[in-house]
Amino acid sequence: MDSKETNALARRFQEEVGKASSVLVGSHLNPDGDALGSALAVGHYLDGLGIANEVLCHHKAPANLQFLPGAHQIRQTPKRASHDLAIVVDLDSLDRLGSTAPYFEKCPQLILLDHHLPHRSPGDLRIVDPSAPATSLILTRLLLACDADITADMATCLLTGIVTDTGSFRFRNTTPESLSLSAVLLERGGDINLVSEQIYQSTPIAAARLMGILYERMRFTSHDRLCWCELGHDDFVKTGATDADTEGLANDLLSIETVQIAALFRESRPGKVRTSLRSRHAFDVAEVAREFGGGGHANAAGCTFEEPIHQAAERVVARLKICLESS
Ligand code: 5GP
Ligand code: MN
Repeated sequence: MDSKETNALARRFQEEVGKASSVLVGSHLNPDGDALGSALAVGHYLDGLGIANEVLCHHKAPANLQFLPGAHQIRQTPKRASHDLAIVVDLDSLDRLGSTAPYFEKCPQLILLDHHLPHRSPGDLRIVDPSAPATSLILTRLLLACDADITADMATCLLTGIVTDTGSFRFRNTTPESLSLSAVLLERGGDINLVSEQIYQSTPIAAARLMGILYERMRFTSHDRLCWCELGHDDFVKTGATDADTEGLANDLLSIETVQIAALFRESRPGKVRTSLRSRHAFDVAEVAREFGGGGHANAAGCTFEEPIHQAAERVVARLKICLESS
């Protein structure tokens, strides 16, 4: 997306927002730093314009994202009966809104901001750039093009999205713009120290114990290039860990020297097996996730199963082996 396109979208965004008297803002279930960072930044922007708004999410903010300014105001159901504009961020399909989807579907206008590929979600105004590493980066561009007053709170939210979706500027999706716009966000008062401490130095003890099980139980195949681990419901009961505590564990497996593809299966809620796939280089795990009804990005994708964890793992690992061996 070049600056001409961004400017044109920014004008339409401002127009739509300017017409609204109340806005419903939302993002995906199991929200991550980019989902909440971008949703809350939109909320703060609307607050600044004096436009009534509510930020909704199927799940509450996980413990490590509760520092985000406004996180405690996120609701699971709206206070108002109706809104004239919906803004949804960081999702490729409205199904990902979970239990909040009907509230968004009722709104007469929908703006979508996202960086996933491919796209199944509708939108009267679609601001989608799959080459952007984070929705928060697209939003930063847009707000700058709108000449918006980016407050320190907004900057911290946006910085969190960029930092988490680029793995602290380590992943392949890190672009020069990820760094240059992060620098702008620091200038606007974004608190990078707070973000680092809250995201990377706040591991709950229960999560650390779950990590112990992960490293103890991980398995390797395909000349140690494929690594996976199953965390059953009993592991969550035993350690007291929650699903939010598994954020980052799939990346930990991918950080092992030989590993090109990593898969983490976890039954944090009985009967539901969330699966995170991670890959290096040209291995496209989103394609595999889509075959199992999920989605995501080439190097970070996921899917969900309602079947025994061993069975789900066996099917996915068999498919990943093919992915690894065919390239
Ligand atoms: P994570 O493994 O961090 O939960 O998710 C990585 C990426 O895969 C994110 O972009 C997320 O939106 C996508 N993803 C994870 N689980 C699912 C799923 O069950 N369905 C879909 N469509 N996408 C998923
Ligand atoms: Mn994202």
